[in-house]
Amino acid sequence: MSEYIRYFLSWITWPGLFTICMLITIYGFVHAQPVLYFNIAYAFLIVALLLLEWWMPHEREWRKPDGQTFASIAHTLSSKGTVQLILLYGGVIGLAEYIKPMAEPVSYGIWPRDWPVWLQVCLAVVAAEFGLYWAHRLGHMVPLFWRFHAVHHSVTKLWIVNTGRFHVLDSLFKIVLGMAVLLVMGAPLEIVQWLSVVTAFIGMLTHCNVEMRFGPLNYIFNTPAVHRWHHSRIKHENQNNYGENLVIWDLIFRTYLKPRDRRPPTNVGIEEFMPPKFTQQLMWPFLKESARKKIQAQHQ
Ligand SMILES: [Zn+2]
Repeated sequence: MSEYIRYFLSWITWPGLFTICMLITIYGFVHAQPVLYFNIAYAFLIVALLLLEWWMPHEREWRKPDGQTFASIAHTLSSKGTVQLILLYGGVIGLAEYIKPMAEPVSYGIWPRDWPVWLQVCLAVVAAEFGLYWAHRLGHMVPLFWRFHAVHHSVTKLWIVNTGRFHVLDSLFKIVLGMAVLLVMGAPLEIVQWLSVVTAFIGMLTHCNVEMRFGPLNYIFNTPAVHRWHHSRIKHENQNNYGENLVIWDLIFRTYLKPRDRRPPTNVGIEEFMPPKFTQQLMWPFLKESARKKIQAQHQ
């Protein structure tokens, strides 16, 4: 019996959880309490996924501890905390002047402010995705950027705690490129907020270790089935699927990988060394080769 329930859940989990979270947040926006209801939806998503990871894991091996839980949570908090601080003290460095036009009701740029909100949100997700796609692709192509992005790929299992595991500068780079597209187009602030909501929910689902089925959704969204290939150790597999929320730019730029005949790799991670502690990982991209070798030697 439980097998049938698991099979049924495997089809409805991704669209079901995403829809529920979006509906809770829409309720919050309508009742002028978007932050409160977003957080309720986010907490609900975390609890639901943790239960599902335990009950119907995609990969049983990934339920074992990897010693990176603290580091991953610390990266999540440092990335999110830095973004909050920049928004809070943005005025000091003149950032507010750049963002101000977004908050104004008058239209500027080419943004279609007369479209229904849901359609504007769809446009924002597709447009910002262009910046997010290239920030991510550069993170793999440019050795200097890879130094930072390697932190995200250094884990040997995928689960929801890895969602926000990014070096703080890697996070900032991605946000700047994604936001730049919307800023140039003149998107209003409310639409940008909706983009962060969508990104938060989809990101949490992307990294979770839950056995799910997606069907045609794999050709629209960055589902776990698509994203797991990006975490492969094999180069010609991991240099694909750079999308954050959608796969549209992967399809257009021919970096989409989703073999139909085999399951995604379970052997995820990177070949190079990454120190285990959070503070070491934070400093790692800035260290010279000699200093890196010294730390590496201590761990062998
Ligand atoms: Zn990557």
